[in-house]
Amino acid sequence: MHINIQTNLSFIALLAIEKEAEHDQFRVYLKQMNSDELDEMIFPIQEEVTAAIDCTTCGACCKSLMINVTAKEASQLSSTLGIDESQFRLQYLEESMEGQLIINQVPCHFLEGSKCSIYQNRFIECREFPHLHKKGFQNRLFGTLMHYGTCPIVFNSIEALKTVSGFHASL
Ligand code: SF4
Ligand code: SF4
Repeated sequence: MHINIQTNLSFIALLAIEKEAEHDQFRVYLKQMNSDELDEMIFPIQEEVTAAIDCTTCGACCKSLMINVTAKEASQLSSTLGIDESQFRLQYLEESMEGQLIINQVPCHFLEGSKCSIYQNRFIECREFPHLHKKGFQNRLFGTLMHYGTCPIVFNSIEALKTVSGFHASL
């Protein structure tokens, strides 16, 4: 399908407020579907949308997400940046209550303007967001719709999914 891509963040944010009630209905509608069939529906949509959007000119998620980092990633990136690992951890990371390493600042330290300064070496969690390519989309509807107003990939995928799934809001 051809999707008209929208990347205007202000427009997307406004629409998210306007469509809160519609999205409550959409979530219920999607919950009634077969989970595997829903995955088959969202996968090609997200593929087309992701290919059409340049995350290096957006960076919106880098301004709001707490990013998990693995010990291996911390070690690799400190070495790539030529920083002693303990210094790297002190400067950029902290431990969550659950003992998980996370970046200690939002927006992320590595964001320069709208672009990730370590894009080729960014963390797995950054690469995987907004997770639309993963199986079990139906279990992540609430979290995904939370990012509708901030992430153009989510926004455009959800709008296309409404069409493909035959959803009509009754407001
Ligand atoms: S590492 Fe890069 S992609 Fe990940 S949150 Fe930071 S700026 Fe964004
Ligand atoms: S994942 Fe979404 S919010 Fe993050 S940079 Fe890409 S389009 Fe922007």
